Amino acid sequence: MQNLPYLCGMNPPRDLKIYNSLSGKKEVFNPITPGHVGMYVCGPTVYSDVHLGNCRTFTSFDVIYRYLRHRGYKVRYVRNITDVGHLTDDGEDRMSKGAKVAQLEPMEVAQRYTVGFHDMMRIFNTLPPSIEPRATGHIPEQIAMVKDILANGLAYESNGSVYFNVPKFAEQYKDVYGSVSGRILDDLYNETRELKSQEEKNHPADFAIWMKARPEDIMVWESPWSLGFPGWHLECSAMSTKYLGKSFDIHGGGNDLKFPHHENEVAQNHGACGCHPANYWMHTNMLLLNGKKMSKSDGNTITPVELFTGDSPFVTKSYSPMVLRFFMLQAHYRSTLDITDEALQAAEKGYRKVMEFNKLLQNMPATATTSTSETDTDRAILQAIDDAFAGMDDDFNTAMAIAAIYDLSGHINKLANQQIDASEVSAWVLERAKTSINDLLINVLGLLDDTSSAGDDGTLSGLMDLILQLRANARANKDWGTSDQIRDALNTAGIVVKDGKEGTTWSKG
Ligand code: AMP
Ligand code: ZN
Repeated sequence: MQNLPYLCGMNPPRDLKIYNSLSGKKEVFNPITPGHVGMYVCGPTVYSDVHLGNCRTFTSFDVIYRYLRHRGYKVRYVRNITDVGHLTDDGEDRMSKGAKVAQLEPMEVAQRYTVGFHDMMRIFNTLPPSIEPRATGHIPEQIAMVKDILANGLAYESNGSVYFNVPKFAEQYKDVYGSVSGRILDDLYNETRELKSQEEKNHPADFAIWMKARPEDIMVWESPWSLGFPGWHLECSAMSTKYLGKSFDIHGGGNDLKFPHHENEVAQNHGACGCHPANYWMHTNMLLLNGKKMSKSDGNTITPVELFTGDSPFVTKSYSPMVLRFFMLQAHYRSTLDITDEALQAAEKGYRKVMEFNKLLQNMPATATTSTSETDTDRAILQAIDDAFAGMDDDFNTAMAIAAIYDLSGHINKLANQQIDASEVSAWVLERAKTSINDLLINVLGLLDDTSSAGDDGTLSGLMDLILQLRANARANKDWGTSDQIRDALNTAGIVVKDGKEGTTWSKG
């Protein structure tokens, strides 16, 4: 158990509890190696721009990563890039399909959307993972895993493809298939969709771990079975094992990945090494638009850029990345979250209030009271700070943490308005409030203060006029490379540039 750096000496250290999809309960977190955490999160399939739903999941895991570090753990955070094997419903590889549509090399598609994903993650102030492996960079590891599963008798070859034998696995490892999604085997069997190559399988629930290429497939590799490509689920089993070991602490992803992706991952790991990959399975809930899951394939999406610019029928104005981050963190990661213009406006107000409060707090002069005995106000302030961190210890409940910050702001505002006397707040309590809240807002919740740009003294506008003029010159010279470079660099810095009929406009994301 790591020491809590806040309120040290005052409260007993508290356990960190994590809701584990495997048990369906909150459990005390105990890592395999004390002081260290291995965490694997399923990353994006880079065939199109990320939507805000994807960003919600990665922002939730960013806060989880940040809080584990805050608690003193040394975390190895692995988040992959899926650039092969994730098939569409009609059985075509998403990357190849994207490449054919855009007449590009699949690797060009992967590169474009990986860069876009990284830019977006930076704009939302999410920390990069410790390792970001790509599926296409780990084909030998995936082939080795297929060989292990075959050698252990839990897969079979059929017409150059290799299928995982689900009924045999379910028989050999009782109650494992279904343990992540909490569903019974018969339901999972019935839910398995009819995909292509069904006639090659012994059982409809069997899934491909290696697929023989068809003539039209363009992302293919040599293997002992055929020229082909790995099944989508295999990459995460192979890469988590490579970088975190056969058994590690936390595996995460959105709850839409529970079945088939995570069930099949668990099956593959058992099939290859006979052990369960992760002790804690964490699943984020979905961001909804119009009451339905935000989803690229259903066309029910909104991109972050549309929100930064306000250029969307769903919103009446633009919202900054930090307002959107705050909006996402106001809900617990296991609750659904419905995006509406009204909810975003409320989040904007809340975000500004919290940022103003922190500025007020940080600029507050030390109180004259240096006594070490606590007043009632001292106790109320300390309680609010403790409630905020207790929320985080309770399965990373950012909603509870933010509610406690509002509570604390009530006391601090009263102090600032002299509704309570300065002698009511001890100097050390005020100091503790300053460091704890700064730490919570900036380091744990990852919320940066972008409110000062609203009152820009003209420096930024002047600089932007100059930069956009340079870009206009480049465009006039048909120097599209420089023009795009300037736009992308500004994007990375959180400034969105938009070319429209009326000329070029910019907004601080
Ligand atoms: P994908 O690129 O489709 O593999 O998705 C990347 C991540 O985003 C996965 O963990 C998904 O579960 C997650 N995700 C997809 N749609 C949503 C949504 N509407 N809300 C929250 N997370 C989502
Ligand atoms: Zn995965």
